Amino acid sequence: MVEEKTRPCPSCDGVMRRGVQEETVTFQGESLTYQQPGWHCENGDDGVLEGSDNDYADAALHEVMARAKHSPISPLMVRAAREAVGVSQRQAGKVFGGGPTAFYKYETAKAVPSEGMANLLMLALERPDLFTKPARGTFNWPSAQDAQLLLRAITDDRLNAIVRRIYPQTDAADERVAG
Ligand SMILES: [Zn+2]
Repeated sequence: MVEEKTRPCPSCDGVMRRGVQEETVTFQGESLTYQQPGWHCENGDDGVLEGSDNDYADAALHEVMARAKHSPISPLMVRAAREAVGVSQRQAGKVFGGGPTAFYKYETAKAVPSEGMANLLMLALERPDLFTKPARGTFNWPSAQDAQLLLRAITDDRLNAIVRRIYPQTDAADERVAG
């Protein structure tokens, strides 16, 4: 049998119990209702949060702040993309750009990422493997794989002709594609 956890309420004579309660957080006209774990008084006055309870309150606040600031992506999605790639906030500033404090700011809604950054992070959510490869050397591109990508992506004849003359190895890749 699970022992029910109770404690006396600090603001009245009531008893507090651990549980999850609906809370609404509001910031500059935006609001979000979410499930807040914590201690809640039987008399319905303010709850008490402890330890990781605050993670939920913080996350909810950052979501509404980002909405109020018209962010193109949610702070929780930014964090999920970063964690999918497996990097720290500081490392993410190198992998995706933006500098060492950018991801701390995006994830706490202190700054809003550009639309370009948001697109990159959406891509990272779908294909985290694209961002976990070691950095490319500066002088060995385009690789054979790059050449395949170029041929698939280029729809403009003029650009196609230029690329083939600058990087003749793309012709070899083309033979494989054309069969
Ligand atoms: Zn109370």
